[in-house]
Amino acid sequence: MSSLAAFSTPFANSDGRTTAFVSGGADAYANARQVLSRFDLGVARNRRVLLKPNAGRTVPAGLGITTEPQVVAAAIDAFVEAGADVSVGDSPIVGVKELQALESTGIADVARARNCRVLYMDKRRYVEVPLPEGRAIHSLRVCPDVFEHDLVVSIPVMKTHMHTRVSLAVKNMKGCLWRRSKVDLHMLPAVPGYGDKSLDVAIADMSAVLRPHLSLIDGTVGMQGLGPSAGTQKPLGAVVASADAFAADAVACALMGIAAEEVPHLRLGAEWGYGIIDLERIDVTPEDWQQRASPFERAPTSLAIEFAGVDVRDDKSCSACQSTLLLYLRRFGEKLVADFGNGSPVVVAIGKGHAEVPRGTICIGNCLLEHRARGVFVPGCPPVGSAIERTIDAARAGVPSPAYAEEIETDDEEDEEAV
Ligand code: SF4
Repeated sequence: MSSLAAFSTPFANSDGRTTAFVSGGADAYANARQVLSRFDLGVARNRRVLLKPNAGRTVPAGLGITTEPQVVAAAIDAFVEAGADVSVGDSPIVGVKELQALESTGIADVARARNCRVLYMDKRRYVEVPLPEGRAIHSLRVCPDVFEHDLVVSIPVMKTHMHTRVSLAVKNMKGCLWRRSKVDLHMLPAVPGYGDKSLDVAIADMSAVLRPHLSLIDGTVGMQGLGPSAGTQKPLGAVVASADAFAADAVACALMGIAAEEVPHLRLGAEWGYGIIDLERIDVTPEDWQQRASPFERAPTSLAIEFAGVDVRDDKSCSACQSTLLLYLRRFGEKLVADFGNGSPVVVAIGKGHAEVPRGTICIGNCLLEHRARGVFVPGCPPVGSAIERTIDAARAGVPSPAYAEEIETDDEEDEEAV
């Protein structure tokens, strides 16, 4: 990805038309191969190709949280057959270590079975990329692997998202941001002149320099409702591809029953000229592609985490802490209430906006570090669910909470500075 600012993709039509392709059926591998066969992958011959699936969380395949491994397998095979040098990589969400997520989803297995490199993209120090025209952000810390490949293919899973409405090919590129710099995008102040959330403006900004050359959206089993990780599975059996990530997202949105114009980061990016979301300007094949549409249940735009016996105080948290807490409460909430309730609600706090919390509060995440002495403190950014359970178990046994904010492991002193 040598010249990101002057973006062009060899997969685009020479006549300037924006095209997208949809395939469907029970076989995810066959669906992906079919849409990829519509592109001249020969342009990737002797070039380094980075396949960027959504493999940010340590979960098994098939939950709609991470990309279906067979879709990645199809992309590997198609590009290898075209003579490309192929790698598969991701930078997982904060709290997931190294290749854990790529391993747990089965993507690492399909890659290794094809002698394809598997990259933990956070391993080395970031490359700082300026964004001179950025509205919400003015530079990005990008994983270096992105710049060591000639072509990048975004391979997300089709999901609704509680903060960004959908998470598709454009937003999947946020997984190229280095380590905790991903979280920074959730913590920005409001952007003057924009009514949209700063996160949405920042993702659109990001597209100025992190646009994939090809997008392959996996709708084998998507996620609806409380995405990106706490929703329900939505089997759709479809795959979408386009050289324009915005066009791919617009077509995927239509299949999900959502207008791309309703998605702020897509609307803004299209307004700024980073891609096309107007379906009237996209040639989609086959003609009857909309017959594959099946509306996804939308994500709530504001999330009130409710659990009987628990008083959740959320002030300026990010989706990572919200979904971690939600999943924790689903699994262990009753036990928490039984052990800590004492007849009144258990107070749990997440987010960076708390000036104070009541005594006895369970403080989840590094943002609550300064309140750790008020009750039980669970370090992490975000803490993984098992860390919450472990810390609370220890508190039950009378062990004091950690007195530090858990940091990501770093490889050397230089990286420590960069965090
Ligand atoms: S601790 Fe949670 S709310 Fe705070 S920055 Fe980390 S993920 Fe976001």
